[in-house]
Amino acid sequence: MTDPAAAYEELKAQGLKLDLTRGKPSSEQLDLAAPMLDLPGAGHHVSPKGTDTRNYGGGQGLPELREIFAPLVQVPVEQLIASNNSSLELMHDTLVHALLSPLPGAPTRWVDAGRVAFLAPVPGYDRHYGVCERLGIELLPVPMTESGPDMDEVERLVAGDPSIKGIWCVPKYSNPDGVVYSDETVRRLASMETAAPDFRIMWDNAYAVHHLTSDEIEIADVLALAAEAGNPDRPFVFGSTSKITLAGSGVAFLGASQANVDWWLALTSKRTIGPDKVNHLRHALFLRDAAGVRAHMAAHRELIAPKFAMVQRLLSDAFSDTEGVTWTEPKGGYFVSLVVPDGLASEVVRLAKEAGIALTPAGATHPYGKDPQDAVIRLAPTLPPLDEIERAMAGVVTCVQLALARR
Ligand code: PMP
Repeated sequence: MTDPAAAYEELKAQGLKLDLTRGKPSSEQLDLAAPMLDLPGAGHHVSPKGTDTRNYGGGQGLPELREIFAPLVQVPVEQLIASNNSSLELMHDTLVHALLSPLPGAPTRWVDAGRVAFLAPVPGYDRHYGVCERLGIELLPVPMTESGPDMDEVERLVAGDPSIKGIWCVPKYSNPDGVVYSDETVRRLASMETAAPDFRIMWDNAYAVHHLTSDEIEIADVLALAAEAGNPDRPFVFGSTSKITLAGSGVAFLGASQANVDWWLALTSKRTIGPDKVNHLRHALFLRDAAGVRAHMAAHRELIAPKFAMVQRLLSDAFSDTEGVTWTEPKGGYFVSLVVPDGLASEVVRLAKEAGIALTPAGATHPYGKDPQDAVIRLAPTLPPLDEIERAMAGVVTCVQLALARR
């Protein structure tokens, strides 16, 4: 085996400038939606059901588009809102609304509740944490397992503390570890006893149709299970077409009980006179139906599955026999988690940066940017071309090898 220090010097000498940081679609993926930019076309602004999409109004979003996405995000069409381009914005606004106006079933608005805390399964998505940090909502980490958050721990915490008002969940192909919640996990989340009567699940189903294999995994229906368990208002379901059509010009969705939807629409009507329905129509015409969305996602898969395969190949060539180095092999979503021995993640990220390879900062997968084990590195292989993934991952391997050798 080559000397890791010498290999690292060679790596640095290459003067690379590569980036594996953010889960963005590549330009080839965005090109798949190119025909959408010509829709609806001048003079074609009236929707099939007769809405003039150019005008104000229609706060819940175009029904034709909601019908397409209702089965994909497992929300009855009457309870689904189609909005503007960002589901993160909907999550942010939902929490702002909950702080300023009592949620259905809430004894007070959250600003008057004193401490407000959310459970954060770790590793998780840094922007969820960012919303809570900005709004003064405390984050309590709970460990992830292969079937979702550690439910014994979640049930114990929420049963005993009324200031725990919610939990973040990315139930399918989770960011960053690709975990899919088991039916049992979903059932327990929907039915568990919570000390807070206004407890909410932030069900961020961002990767609902983003399969990397032919095994198109389905998850349990959280809204239906919560309603069956007598907790209809518990889930807020989110999704978007950011990684289906255009990341900057897609459509975001929010689904919930009728009471939650009415609450949300009433509050939102104070900040907008309606969403971008021309974009809704453009999406409905381009995607056509749920089968059209699935077919479109198969084309995405063809573009990105080879990139994920490259990450797997380079990691297993280098580390299949290395104790303490493990990684996920996701069946969907946008990320691979690389786990290195405790205390080494930030060193690997630092070494990579010095060699011109940008990785997501170590700790970003944990609340407040602090991974107590300093072990998780999130890899995002969708954006760069395949040859760059190969060079970047070969560099990451060299950095891990050097960090291990210096330990
Ligand atoms: N949720 C998750 C889990 C994500 O990974 C991302 C994008 N990285 C988002 C939400 C952002 O979604 P949107 O573009 O709809 O705001």
